[in-house]
Amino acid sequence: GGAVTFENVVFGYEPDRTILNGVSFAVGAGETLAIVGPSGAGKSTIARLLFRFYDPQGGRVTIDGQDIKAVTQKSLRAEIGIVPQDTVLFNDSIGYNIAYGRADASAEEIAAAAEGAAIDGFIALLPQGYETEVGERGLKLSGGEKQRVAIARTLLKNPPILILDEATSALDSRTEAAIQATLDRIAERRTTLVIAHRLSTVVNADRIIVLEKGRVAETGTHEQLLAMR
Ligand code: ADP
Ligand code: ADP
Repeated sequence: GGAVTFENVVFGYEPDRTILNGVSFAVGAGETLAIVGPSGAGKSTIARLLFRFYDPQGGRVTIDGQDIKAVTQKSLRAEIGIVPQDTVLFNDSIGYNIAYGRADASAEEIAAAAEGAAIDGFIALLPQGYETEVGERGLKLSGGEKQRVAIARTLLKNPPILILDEATSALDSRTEAAIQATLDRIAERRTTLVIAHRLSTVVNADRIIVLEKGRVAETGTHEQLLAMR
């Protein structure tokens, strides 16, 4: 499962200002769709509509053919994982942060998620391992490590649909490349919506839509869109 459609979606936060003006796209189960466009184009708004933080004023959003208005908030949250732009960790242990929302997770599951997010090696070097407090004196996680803890949390949740919200924008270029490789690997196995500013960060998407002035201005693969420019 995990197919997503937006069908003629119209949405504005305020009555007189439309942000999405008839946006349509479809993402098949397991596919990766990138949403590219200038700041303020409405990319994050699409993610918020998928979570039903808001409902559209026109059109509809479906998951596996079902209007998400008919899906409970609980199952929506179970189906969709998000790796947000800026990770805020709880002032608690690394293990707690990974297992947040999954109190039932076993140590093995947590370790597998850490491995998937490529932080298992780093954690193994810490004297207190998973019990290490993220804010402990002398230990401050780097931006990249924090981002990977957020990725591990999402992997543990194992949602069929993943939203990557410019997940690497705050990082230096070497860390960004390493995390991008991890995200590409994760995206391979589930339906993924990547929200990005730049075409150059979404080379591996199956399809890219360019959002401009509330509409889908262009659709294509990375190669096709590059050829148009
Ligand atoms: P993007 O992710 O493409 O940068 P957003 O979806 O965050 O764009 O925002 C699209 C537009 O909606 C922007 O003009 C933004 O100012 C506006 N906007 C975002 N959130 C709100 C809100 N809660 N209330 C009013 N306007 C908002
Ligand atoms: P979880 O399913 O992990 O318990 P939530 O269902 O509370 O998390 O939220 C899902 C994700 O949506 C969280 O990872 C959070 O970062 C993100 N999120 C929460 N509020 C907003 C928001 N206003 N805009 C965009 N993303 C948000």
